[in-house]
Amino acid sequence: MSALPEYKTRVLLEGQGVPLVNGVFVAAGSAIPDDLPAPPVYLKAQIPGATSRAAHGLVRRCDTKEELNANLAELLAPGAWGQAEGVLVASAVDMVGEYYAACMLDFGSAEKLPGGTLLFSTQGGSGVEGRSESLKKISFSLLNLPTAAELAEKFGDVENKANIGAFLEGFIKTYAKYKLIVLETNPIGVLKDGSLLVVDCRAEFEGQAVGKADKELFAPASVTKEDKTRLERLVDKINEGDPAGTGFIREERESPPKDAWCVATNLCGGGGKMLWEMTTGARKDIFSMNESDTSGGLSAFKSYRVLRAILEMEGSHVILLTGSGMGFQNQYHLAAAMWKGLRESPTPLPAMLRFGGTDEDKARDLIAKVASSLPVKVKTYFPHVFPNAMVDEISEVASRERVRVTPEPQPEGAPTFSVKMPPGDFFYYPDKWTKDEAPPCVGICPNQFLSWNAETRMVSPVEGARCIGCLLCEVASLLDGNGELRIRLDMPEVD
Ligand code: SF4
Repeated sequence: MSALPEYKTRVLLEGQGVPLVNGVFVAAGSAIPDDLPAPPVYLKAQIPGATSRAAHGLVRRCDTKEELNANLAELLAPGAWGQAEGVLVASAVDMVGEYYAACMLDFGSAEKLPGGTLLFSTQGGSGVEGRSESLKKISFSLLNLPTAAELAEKFGDVENKANIGAFLEGFIKTYAKYKLIVLETNPIGVLKDGSLLVVDCRAEFEGQAVGKADKELFAPASVTKEDKTRLERLVDKINEGDPAGTGFIREERESPPKDAWCVATNLCGGGGKMLWEMTTGARKDIFSMNESDTSGGLSAFKSYRVLRAILEMEGSHVILLTGSGMGFQNQYHLAAAMWKGLRESPTPLPAMLRFGGTDEDKARDLIAKVASSLPVKVKTYFPHVFPNAMVDEISEVASRERVRVTPEPQPEGAPTFSVKMPPGDFFYYPDKWTKDEAPPCVGICPNQFLSWNAETRMVSPVEGARCIGCLLCEVASLLDGNGELRIRLDMPEVD
């Protein structure tokens, strides 16, 4: 999964008639064009996958021509952030409101065909993640995209619904045309006359889905393979083996300030990242060890693998996770992945877990049940507790001494059965389940993927059903059964 920088995402949107704030891209090493927007402007360094741009001074407001020239020269030159692809010079606009929109893949279920999901809110801007109740969720078919009128209809009595419908029609078209995994704009600026335009945007895509004609537009990011750390390459491999949903990490190259708390992050989605960056951007006592994004409907199998990679980060004192807050990834499944990761990693980290979204209560309950069995301290948070409150508790939860354990052994030998996508090996031990009724792993499966044969006393996959990699069968087996079903999720090998 790769991230497209904002200036390229703008090209995709523009092609489908989506209005954008006036902006000109200046490529590194090229001449400064004559048609730059007049100040006030925002300069945004274009670094694919980069987050915390504002906190790192990579987004700058310039109110005069002199400021513009000086800052532009600085951002176009190599700096602590490496070499940006270029700088987007965008006009500052007077907005009377901010909306939010995102399109994501919905992989469907046994009852529902895969398609797209549109998330929309008339309360966009910073902190949208914490206002998940304001998000309207609309499912749509990728084969028959909704029209502006149909979309406007969905917004009932929302003021400005005709403009919203027209805007979203082009937005969804962009998402579908380029087979994107995620397309997000935040904020959508609302102008005095009610018209809408994209102020900031981002896209994620799967390289295999890019058509020949668009190859150049989606050309790989400037960070080359050689520049990547071992853990970043490990996550690339995880994505190759399981492309559904976003798994992204980028390790910080700079050293932490002396005595700072070093926080490994597992941030689920752009909103989670935004909240974290807003909280920690100016702080010297908190050091983010990495940027991360695990979102877009990834399976718990993949969450587990990315988490295992993050837990390997040397020098970390604690891991902080903020759940999606948009209900896109089931939080109970995410909690199952967290529990598995913390008990199977040889280097588990004390954890601060903020679940938000579908089944968040079940997620917190699960962690509460298992916390005392883990080798590290774990604390959960409600979604209304923002990261600024969480960071105040870091010193209570974190540990400067790195915990190293010998985790319980993984199941060995040939699995009872395997699933290819998401990839996982299932082991069933009939001697551990001696009752006559089916073991708890069977009934809990949300996709009826598992069946029990009372005669052979075995559990096997149901033909035609699909495993979504949620890990609930293993949770049920460990908590309500006798450990009769185990799942082995191998990590890819990297040099
Ligand atoms: S088999 Fe297990 S991991 Fe797969 S969908 Fe069913 S409960 Fe989830």
